[in-house]
Amino acid sequence: MTAVSGNGHRSHVLAVPLPAQGHVKPLMSLCRQIAKHGIKVTFVNAQSIHHKILSAAAAEEEDDDCGGNVVMATVPDGLSPEHDPNNPFMLFETLQKTMPQTLPELIERINSDNPNEKVTCLIADLSFSWIFDIADKMGLEPVGFSPPSVACLAMAFHALKMLERGDLDTNGSLKNGDVISLSDDTPAWRNEELPWRFPDNPKMEKVVIEAIQVYRKASKAKWWLCNSCYELEPAANELLPNALPIGPLNLLDSITDGSDSRSTNFYPEHSSCLSWLDSKPDGSVVYVSFGSSAVFSQKQLDELALGLELSGRAFLWVVRPDLVNGSCIAYPDGFLDRVSGLGKIVEWAPQNRVLAHPSIGCFMSHCGWNSTMEGASRGVPFLCWPYMSDQLHNERYICDKWEIGLKITFDEGGIKSRYEIKKKIETLFSDNKFKENALKLKEMCGKSVSIGGSSCKNMKKFIDHLRG
Ligand code: UDP
Repeated sequence: MTAVSGNGHRSHVLAVPLPAQGHVKPLMSLCRQIAKHGIKVTFVNAQSIHHKILSAAAAEEEDDDCGGNVVMATVPDGLSPEHDPNNPFMLFETLQKTMPQTLPELIERINSDNPNEKVTCLIADLSFSWIFDIADKMGLEPVGFSPPSVACLAMAFHALKMLERGDLDTNGSLKNGDVISLSDDTPAWRNEELPWRFPDNPKMEKVVIEAIQVYRKASKAKWWLCNSCYELEPAANELLPNALPIGPLNLLDSITDGSDSRSTNFYPEHSSCLSWLDSKPDGSVVYVSFGSSAVFSQKQLDELALGLELSGRAFLWVVRPDLVNGSCIAYPDGFLDRVSGLGKIVEWAPQNRVLAHPSIGCFMSHCGWNSTMEGASRGVPFLCWPYMSDQLHNERYICDKWEIGLKITFDEGGIKSRYEIKKKIETLFSDNKFKENALKLKEMCGKSVSIGGSSCKNMKKFIDHLRG
């Protein structure tokens, strides 16, 4: 099926994610849906991100052609030798400087190579809204995509107003009061839980609060596609009528052929853990994963390892090679031998498939929004361990609004102790309320993306628009 617009040319979408795992993955899921409808899609990564994805795919246990029916393209990183190539915020800044030149060059190259398939539409991450200036100049339709919750997007726009009124200081702290509530039915944000909070990195808070200004350009785009569904966040959607929830996008990826998460992984995926899960009873395994960027102190890693051991429950734990503050991974003495019959550790899991596996009983998570959507849409209860940014508010949705999880809290020494971890695992497994609520969310999300559901209708509306 090929979608041809009124002028006889095929529609052609160019998609540009933020250079981070949690942004690349959901945008690729959206692009696959668009491409399925015969619309040509080119996905543009910064070169270093593209290389990460290629080398992860090359090391994976199954073959993959990276983009599937989506064409992959790159723009230069613009990093100089003195820049740290592994610092995503550095890339965020350099791309902002170089892409106004390199992206039009790429588009012109694509257009002259395929005059009948010229780029017609530019989908960009809303936190990269400066790209819409490029769309303007090149006569392309700008479309926004937002991977976090609709509530978080609403908060970004609210922050712009607060900055104008002088209600936030330059560190992003509230000048009056210590709570912001946007509506009665959306969990409120405490000062220390605002989306620009990076508790271990005050410098980053300044960078992010300044970067929020970019959302002023979001209004150039008529469509703001969000990885959520109306039913999960009705009040937040009422606050932002421009937002068009089309998710959870993970439910649209194909689980059966395994193409759901491969092709956008920054780390090689270890799918062998799926057969390990096959050997476990339903609802028995604790899945532990902290996304792509959270880091631990060695002391905290030790406590987590010992807490999992103490719980006596089977666990599947994702330990990225860079999980411990840049050091090599070291476990407590004898830990690996003692848990060899109990747990499995992998460097990167096929998370969307893991969470859909019947053996999974709960998800110990940093509460990134993708992980939140993936767990909620599969009916999995959560143990919450947020670090920063929107994760802190996502925890409020999980624990306070949806009641599908529990918080793991710090002790006076700022550590989540092995005893707290064991206690929360036990409580979560012994109170059926969490699983029951999680199953209701699973049903709600499933209906939303099925024919006649709200997300499905929104996606159709957008794709019909692209097809002209
Ligand atoms: N992920 C994965 N395998 C892992 C850990 C994470 O595929 O072992 C994926 C996960 O499914 C999600 C993304 O990486 O889609 C992480 O996004 P999220 O928003 O949860 O967290 P972030 O990495 O942005 O902090």
